[in-house]
Amino acid sequence: MEPKTNLVQNNGLARGQPMSSHRAEAYGRISILLFLGRYAEYRGKPYSTSLQAITYCDNSGVLTTEKRLKRGVESPYRQLNPDHDALVTIAELSAKLPENFRTKHVHGHQDNALEYEELSPPAQLNVDADELATIALQSALAEGATALQTIPLPSCQAYLLNREGCIISSGEVKHHLRLSMPAENLMNYLQRHQGWTDDTIHRINWELFAKGRAKLTPNLMFFSTKLSSDWLPVAVRQHRHQFLPTNECHLCGEPEITEHLFLCKQRGEWKQSFLANIDKELRRLETAADIRRHIVQGLEDWLFTKATELISVDQDAIGWYNIA
Ligand SMILES: [Zn+2]
Repeated sequence: MEPKTNLVQNNGLARGQPMSSHRAEAYGRISILLFLGRYAEYRGKPYSTSLQAITYCDNSGVLTTEKRLKRGVESPYRQLNPDHDALVTIAELSAKLPENFRTKHVHGHQDNALEYEELSPPAQLNVDADELATIALQSALAEGATALQTIPLPSCQAYLLNREGCIISSGEVKHHLRLSMPAENLMNYLQRHQGWTDDTIHRINWELFAKGRAKLTPNLMFFSTKLSSDWLPVAVRQHRHQFLPTNECHLCGEPEITEHLFLCKQRGEWKQSFLANIDKELRRLETAADIRRHIVQGLEDWLFTKATELISVDQDAIGWYNIA
């Protein structure tokens, strides 16, 4: 087999979080297309029409989208697809190169089955590229780099920012759009209804809250909304609207407000099994031990004595039944 000659090679880090192999591949592709474009630019003349060039990529998804975008087949809805910004950049860069510059797919990791020397030149280039990418990543990690923020790419017409002002480039765009309006409304309502200060409301991780809620069944979502908004049909509420002759808890006789559903002294057995279940679930989720202890201990104190100040001031501010 003809040995290949490397005239030039390069590596660097892809931008965006969370990083996926799809995005990393797309960035690699941006890099080579940008290089080919810039090379002609700095040479001061276009490529000869007889020059044949092939670029390779091992991600067929990236290549399929690139082809589609180059044909101009695009609907606004596709702007919500993961890594859309990188893919439109690829299509734009690729459209500037001559027609006879072609793109081909190469199967990745062929060195798993064959020795490097036995591979075709495109497969060898693929192995080289993977190695260069690993080197770039390792040296960045050795320098203590964390996930790199997305830099807006000029070909992309719109970006969505999360609450922290960071660009969302992944498939989470649709998720955010679907949940942010109701979450925002719920947040404003809860602040008004519960009398929380701005400081209290901003200490809540609303993004995680929305993610957690999205996993609930519709029934549980209604329940959790009613619980945190004090809309559950507790006796005090029912009595106020004259649906019940008394506002008392039928177990102990104290006024049954929402909190009382958890604090009732007659519900000791339920409290114990509830705490055991929470502990079991947190262990199953591999929650860090100190966080697990804080949650379980805080809940136990609150359920049995209503005294929790030492555990979590933040949780006291929003009420412990919002964990329960
Ligand atoms: Zn009671």
